[in-house]
Amino acid sequence: MQSAKEKPLVYSCSGCSSAAQMANDLALKLNRQGVAEMSCIAGVGGHVKPLVVTATSGRRMIVLDGCVLACAKACLQQHGVVPTVHFNLSKFGVKKVKNETYCPQQSEEVYDQLLQQINTL
Ligand code: SF4
Repeated sequence: MQSAKEKPLVYSCSGCSSAAQMANDLALKLNRQGVAEMSCIAGVGGHVKPLVVTATSGRRMIVLDGCVLACAKACLQQHGVVPTVHFNLSKFGVKKVKNETYCPQQSEEVYDQLLQQINTL
């Protein structure tokens, strides 16, 4: 079992669209299941010191973005941080729809695909 400090960090975008909600929930699930330790991307984008210290600590890092705009990745780029692996959910067929939640079945399928790729990190 990896200690908390050895686990990769996970960040996700977060927003109103179905894709952003799925990205955030997938990151929460990775955290809950002990695959990675989630930290808050809003603090990284907002230059909040303790959260920037975590983000720039050099740990392996998984980043989930809901669409091609890659907001979470852009927040990290402000601090010169490049994730170990970056997932754009649109490449998994996830649609970005406003005012709707995502399909739970699709989220399960995407989670399984993420795990397969994360396990090779
Ligand atoms: S990456 Fe796309 S889905 Fe995520 S917050 Fe940015 S615009 Fe929204």
